[in-house]
Amino acid sequence: MSPELRDLIVQLCYLVASVLFVFSLKWMNSPQSARRGVMAGVWAMVLGVGGTLANPAVAVSSLPWIALAVMVGGIVGVPLSKVPLTAVPQRTALSHAFGGLAAGLVGTAKYYLWLHEGGEMLTGFRVFAITAEVILGFLTFTGSLMAAGKLQEFLPGRPITYRGQLIVNFLTLGGAIACAVALIINPQWSFLFPVLVILALAFGVMLIIPIGGADMPTVIALLNSYAGLSAVAMGFVLDNKLLIIAGALDGSSGLILSIIMCKAMNRSFSNVLFGAFGSVQESGGEDSGKTVKSANPAEAAEIMEQADTVVIVPGYGMAVAQAQHRVRELYDQLTKRGISVKFAIHPVAGRMPGHMNVLLAEADIPYDDLIEMDEINPEMPQVDVVLVLGANDVVNPAAKNNPKSPIHGMPIIEADRAKTVLAVKRSMKPGFAGIDNELYTLDKTLMVFGDAKAVVGEMAKTLSGDSGIH
Ligand code: NDP
Repeated sequence: MSPELRDLIVQLCYLVASVLFVFSLKWMNSPQSARRGVMAGVWAMVLGVGGTLANPAVAVSSLPWIALAVMVGGIVGVPLSKVPLTAVPQRTALSHAFGGLAAGLVGTAKYYLWLHEGGEMLTGFRVFAITAEVILGFLTFTGSLMAAGKLQEFLPGRPITYRGQLIVNFLTLGGAIACAVALIINPQWSFLFPVLVILALAFGVMLIIPIGGADMPTVIALLNSYAGLSAVAMGFVLDNKLLIIAGALDGSSGLILSIIMCKAMNRSFSNVLFGAFGSVQESGGEDSGKTVKSANPAEAAEIMEQADTVVIVPGYGMAVAQAQHRVRELYDQLTKRGISVKFAIHPVAGRMPGHMNVLLAEADIPYDDLIEMDEINPEMPQVDVVLVLGANDVVNPAAKNNPKSPIHGMPIIEADRAKTVLAVKRSMKPGFAGIDNELYTLDKTLMVFGDAKAVVGEMAKTLSGDSGIH
């Protein structure tokens, strides 16, 4: 096959892959077309990789190395794809870390290769692209590892702050940028390259440590955007249009997602970039003396049976317990009695955007009964019973009432305004943000202690037993 024909095939593969990437993102916007979106993304990747392998610039002698890299990637990637849904955010963070590392290493290799060849290839633009790729790639690598560590609780979730932190962070980033500028001016000053790499790696760590666990979802979306931007820079270095397009899609979608999540959590975007939310001390221990009322699952079921309206607020605990199918049974029992049952969905309930929607869809809960936070909150005072199911931070009234709380300002599902609250969890331990929840000590609240799956299963059983008696 002539090199011209091969090149044409490569460009064609890249063109179709780019179009598929765009459609993939579009289709992932709705649950109905999401599966098609994932498949479009898979085929786009297949065409991208296939097209690159067909590129005449890929030497045959490199193929065994590429095969080895694919094998290593497969050995790491296959187990990673099997993590439970609750661990998807940290898995995503790890993927960004690998993406960032790859971009950083490619940029480094290109710099030294072209330097070794005499430096003619190191034009101002190429060095600009290489240094941008290396800074973004390496800071994404360490930043994403830190984020994954915080989410997996290998590292403390609370923000780590110190005096002058912002200045130190700016100096570190400024130092890396200064090295980049110097290298653009004179690419032969190779002693600056390792300094740039070290500063970028350090900046990734410093960027994440002051950010509290509760802001990790936004940070992950932001790191996604950095990984995308480093891929764009890599596209310019390698002169690969597909990388530029895919990187730009990745970068912009990550940015849009982080802005949407900031809005959902009432955070200012610049604060998530530089701030230390959780560093504000919570008022601490105010509720500790208060008594807690509790009920057993059967009693709770009877309370729900008397209600006209029940709103279920699912949270991370429902996901951990995998209680969604028992929830469906409870939903069936209640709706069978003519009780209106709705699900109140908080945008950051669980551990990833859309987490609750995915779980409830798995249990075939009708999509129309899933109500967004803004829509359900005005109805709360008329709701007879709210069943808080393994949710904690997303129903914590401190977000509204306590300016000192680390989550102050985050919009919540206002379960505290309903007539009666039933809260299912295993203990009085705090949720993800590590703070007490005064909802559990309100007069109208009854705690139903236990694993969500077991408790909801018992509730459904009580109601089905009842229906037998009628
Ligand atoms: P939380 O993490 O605040 O609370 C979950 C509660 O579930 C805990 O208090 C826990 O209490 C309970 N629980 C855990 N396991 C079980 C079980 N097996 N059965 C019953 N209860 C259980 O969850 P929320 O959904 O309310 O809030 C999400 C939090 O996660 C927010 O702070 C958000 O910012 C953060 N986050 C969100 C992400 C997203 O994109 N959605 C990503 C990363 C973080 P106990 O131990 O007593 O049982």
